[in-house]
Amino acid sequence: MPQPHVYRTEAIVLRQRPLVDADKVCVLFTPLHGRIEAVAKGVRRTRSHLAGHVEPLTRSRFLLAKARSLDIITQAETIDAFPALHDDLDRLSRGLYAAELVDRFTDSAADGTRLYQHLLDTLHRVETADSPDLPLRWFEMRLLDDQGYRPQLQQCVRCESPLRPDGNAFSVPAGGVACPECRTGLIGRPLSGRAFKLLRFLQTAPYEQSAQVRIDAGLGRELEGHLRGAVELALDQEVRAARFVEVVRSTSADVHNGKRAAAPFVERRAQGED
Ligand SMILES: [Zn+2]
Repeated sequence: MPQPHVYRTEAIVLRQRPLVDADKVCVLFTPLHGRIEAVAKGVRRTRSHLAGHVEPLTRSRFLLAKARSLDIITQAETIDAFPALHDDLDRLSRGLYAAELVDRFTDSAADGTRLYQHLLDTLHRVETADSPDLPLRWFEMRLLDDQGYRPQLQQCVRCESPLRPDGNAFSVPAGGVACPECRTGLIGRPLSGRAFKLLRFLQTAPYEQSAQVRIDAGLGRELEGHLRGAVELALDQEVRAARFVEVVRSTSADVHNGKRAAAPFVERRAQGED
């Protein structure tokens, strides 16, 4: 059977990059075709009909035409623009972080139905949750599971004895938690009892239950450090949006303390361009 020349799909736009003339390449994540790079023609012109529908962190319906190299976006219509995500730099930075993880972890033409749903849920949660960080931690845990990097949190990665909460270390290269006897000599960070329990909870609990847990700033940062380490080892590279999250976080803290207004370059990063 000949391949159809056009196909329809919904997708979440992960990012864009400029191409020649007024064109852009949009990186799309779809439920059935996985990650797709497609050209949005003329989208940098002010009167483009496509522009609003292909912005990063927009969920849209697409009509795409097959082409020899990159497919062409012929129509796009927004399903969900995530307005509260785009109006708040704290939330936007976390949304871009989630999108980058999917962008880096996924290959083209892979079935992404489950991951698509996780990403969609995560963007909605980042948009509405009291703290936009917890949805990311839950998402990282699912992503590590899905990609075959589930951290070992039940028994020591070295001696395999059942773990108790205190005195452990989280060793990313060893693939999980090392007990107090085995942690010496392993590359890893100290793991507090609270973070240990929370990691185990996040690994098995549905999001709705995880969202009930109260997490103070210190515990939140510890959790973030452990999971980001695991994610970056799995990817074998840094997550660039993590730096953006840091900048927004420190800027927000300064704004709250009356020190300065948001730095202009944050706006540019928010557009997904370097
Ligand atoms: Zn051990």
